[in-house]
Amino acid sequence: MNRHERRAKAAAARRGQPTINPTVDPRASAATELHQHIIQAGLELGNETLSKGRSPEILYDLVEGALRLAESFEKRNPRNPTAIACKKGCSHCCSRPVASSAPTVLRIASILRQTLSSEAFASVLARVVRLDEKTHGLPFSMSSRPPQPCALLVDDACSIHVIRPFVCRAWNSADEDDCRRALKEQAVRMRIDLFQRTVFSGAEKGMHAALRAKGLDPVDLEFTAAMRIAMENPDACERWLAGEPVFAGCEARHDADDRYHLPIA
Ligand code: SF4
Repeated sequence: MNRHERRAKAAAARRGQPTINPTVDPRASAATELHQHIIQAGLELGNETLSKGRSPEILYDLVEGALRLAESFEKRNPRNPTAIACKKGCSHCCSRPVASSAPTVLRIASILRQTLSSEAFASVLARVVRLDEKTHGLPFSMSSRPPQPCALLVDDACSIHVIRPFVCRAWNSADEDDCRRALKEQAVRMRIDLFQRTVFSGAEKGMHAALRAKGLDPVDLEFTAAMRIAMENPDACERWLAGEPVFAGCEARHDADDRYHLPIA
């Protein structure tokens, strides 16, 4: 059993849930193998991008490349469109805390700054600040943090859908009722598209490995808190690339929740 499988087993045990035994369930070992393959592909792609230098544009290209990589794998495994319940207007999962590393957050803030009017940007920032004031520093566990809609959620739809974080793309569900119950109960067995979760998790981890190799810190940040910093500070990206602890105090406190190791029914 490798490190990821041990973590999945420990997280599920804490939640009192059964786990897939990778020695008998071929889904788990196939997903682990695919995960490792995509991490390696993401690392190689990231190394190539970061070899061009260190600038905000190159960092945003890195994120874009990792997303395209995941999407290229996703296209290889077309699924029955009725198999997944996720759709516009269904937003239960957007009331759970979100973690993302600095490059994704910085890219989202930069695109919002470039594409929104100053009034619209200020309005989004005001929503981010209001949510951050309620949630800053809280652990990600349900007992410590009641569900709160994401500041980027507008009319039950993601207002940044095409540039949303990796974890928002990785999470998915085959049953809306499971998602509704998961906002209230810790131990909900969820059926998910394991392939989708695997490709977006793998691409992000590969990108993170490339960043680490260049001495940059891809630690998980609390999305709302980090978005506030990135939106309030137009020079946040340059400072982060220079090694400044721009996001100090925004680190995600995952607690018992394990962001990618969803229980699989
Ligand atoms: S970024 Fe978008 S998809 Fe992710 S939690 Fe916020 S509203 Fe939902």
